[in-house]
Amino acid sequence: MLKADLHMHTTFSDGIFSPYELIKKCKQKGLSIISITDHDSVASFPDAFEYGKEFGVEVIPGVELSALVDEKDVHILGYFVDYTNPNLLEYLEFFRRERVKRAERIVAKLNNINVPLKFEAVMERAGKGAVGRPHIASAMVDGGYIETYHQAFERFIGNGGPAYEKKFQLTLTDAIKLISSSGGLSFLAHPGRYTTEELLQQTIKSGLDGIEVIHPSHQPVHTQYYRGVVNEYFLLESGGSDFHGGKKNDDEVLGSFYVDEVKVGMMKHRLFSNGSSQK
Ligand code: AMP
Ligand code: ZN
Ligand code: FE
Ligand code: FE
Repeated sequence: MLKADLHMHTTFSDGIFSPYELIKKCKQKGLSIISITDHDSVASFPDAFEYGKEFGVEVIPGVELSALVDEKDVHILGYFVDYTNPNLLEYLEFFRRERVKRAERIVAKLNNINVPLKFEAVMERAGKGAVGRPHIASAMVDGGYIETYHQAFERFIGNGGPAYEKKFQLTLTDAIKLISSSGGLSFLAHPGRYTTEELLQQTIKSGLDGIEVIHPSHQPVHTQYYRGVVNEYFLLESGGSDFHGGKKNDDEVLGSFYVDEVKVGMMKHRLFSNGSSQK
């Protein structure tokens, strides 16, 4: 069996490893197929394919989008997207610009409540990546305003916190459309984190191709449940580590959450029968 980890992040979003470093690690961990799924960015492609060839790892182009459903931040993974599609690139650029504006608003709120965090420090943390709350939390630790990354969310920037600001989000239908119009397949990411039965039905009706069944946040009961849903609705199954790097348990995460190559074959088959990007 070949191991396929179809969810991970690089420095082009909030991961700490560059595509090259990440793919090298994936090889060391025995992964044969991976998908890089940065938030709002496909900037690791096409270079990542070259690194994949160098290490003998098949790299599937991916992206992770955020959609707003009933006030919840629902993540949609897109696989096999055409990373050169002008419409996709334009949207991703727009999301990233909106993220910068939102980071500015969060910093302003922090400053108002006597946390003198500088916007520049946040952008430095983000580097080439799509800026998000993880960068703000890390910059707050760097500045010594809090002790731990989690405190930033607990006290300030978590949902509903005093310095919380919403980010721009697509509707579910638009997120799925954006992926399919770029020739990709859309998957509901880590549903165990937020998904009510109603939300699940809604996403399936919106034309989702599959569900991320394997994810570190899923208990065995989740995995079993979502696998059942996949079978019932003739959906595709995905899975991965959602690896970002920089956490204590990093070493156990990469290489431990995967689907087999048959699942990837089924995705390719679905793409093929869709008639590439004719949808
Ligand atoms: P953003 O897309 O900028 O809203 O950031 C969302 C990311 O922040 C999530 O993917 C998590 O990595 C992180 N995050 C959100 N809430 C928390 C929390 N309560 N504790 C730790 N990390 C969080
Ligand atoms: Zn992330
Ligand atoms: Fe996610
Ligand atoms: Fe993710």
